[in-house]
Amino acid sequence: GQLTSASLISMEHEYGAHNYHPLPVVFDSARGAKVWDPEGKEYIDMLSAYSAVNQGHCHPKIVATLVEQAQKLTLSSRAFYNSVFGRFAQQITQMFSYESVLPMNTGAEAVETAVKLARKWAYLKKGVPDGKAIVLSVAGNFHGRTLGVIRIMTKSCVIRYGEISDLERALELHGKNVAAFLIEPIQGEAGIVVPPRGYFAKVRELCTKHNVLLICDEIQTGLCRTGKMLCCEHEGIRPDMVLLGKALSGGVYPVSAVLADREVMHCIQPGEHGSTYGGNPLGCAVAMTSLRVLVDEKLADRAQEVRGRGLLNAVVIDEEKSSKGRTAWQFCLLLKSRGVLAKPTHCNIVRFAPPLVILEEDLRKAIRIIGQCLSDL
Ligand code: PLP
Repeated sequence: GQLTSASLISMEHEYGAHNYHPLPVVFDSARGAKVWDPEGKEYIDMLSAYSAVNQGHCHPKIVATLVEQAQKLTLSSRAFYNSVFGRFAQQITQMFSYESVLPMNTGAEAVETAVKLARKWAYLKKGVPDGKAIVLSVAGNFHGRTLGVIRIMTKSCVIRYGEISDLERALELHGKNVAAFLIEPIQGEAGIVVPPRGYFAKVRELCTKHNVLLICDEIQTGLCRTGKMLCCEHEGIRPDMVLLGKALSGGVYPVSAVLADREVMHCIQPGEHGSTYGGNPLGCAVAMTSLRVLVDEKLADRAQEVRGRGLLNAVVIDEEKSSKGRTAWQFCLLLKSRGVLAKPTHCNIVRFAPPLVILEEDLRKAIRIIGQCLSDL
């Protein structure tokens, strides 16, 4: 028979690495913005797997594409051509108006790729002396959890997010050797930190002035989450590189991508970078349909229904002011008991980012429950 939530949780705890601290709810099936646990209890998903299921859980068109392609061809490796990657590359580059795409699998890999590419560009095109190229980033950033990315994240705590004078100073000091500036249009994991209006226009200006590539990590903010296809459209800027992941495959299969123009992209030569699964036909087919669903179902417009930047919102729990001394974690447990799923980020901030297909009645119900739980804290 079906295992219970409790036994599945203890099984994971016993045999799995303890690299996450999940809320005690087991997903057994899901559709759109709804999730069911093994006992059949229904929840409204207000996290969307960190914005990977913008199109909704198990979107029928995306799943159908997965099944269809899986029966035809799943992997060629890039030792050979396959009949899907070229079509995907054409679609995604035309859609985002870049000349070229480099496909990878996870978000962190896209970030690593962009950093590697930027450094190559710096040596080949900008004339930075050997071994001197640097990539700047900002405090509080999150770009993934691989070693190279973690190095970027820990090294860069002098440039504050949203403080243009910090970037200006760093570029005045090191500009000649700076290959790129890597930044999230809204800091997701830091707790949905939205920069002041106009910040990105100035960032763009400074990067252009110092001949520094602007890399926007749109892995969480991109693909309609904030009410635009890309979050940086809110500021009317065009980065030199855009990184996509998560919802690029609607939560169905890991696909990520680096978008850039040829002047930058072609700095990587055959044999210098890649991945066995990067650009595989199964992932590419899934991504093509995932992108099409975002456009066909006008999901950017749906995200605009809510105040703020689309459907990427958060509440901050002032734990000292909670009458019962409750924390954000306990708030999430309370939400869960009433059928709403969210998770704290950065200790006391709770992000709300439901699948963009969420029905108005479910959204209203979730908001009502969130309100009740806040007053019961
Ligand atoms: N960049 C940003 C902005 C993210 O939010 C994340 C994941 O949360 C990543 C990169 C890393 O993506 P992945 O977990 O697929 O490696």
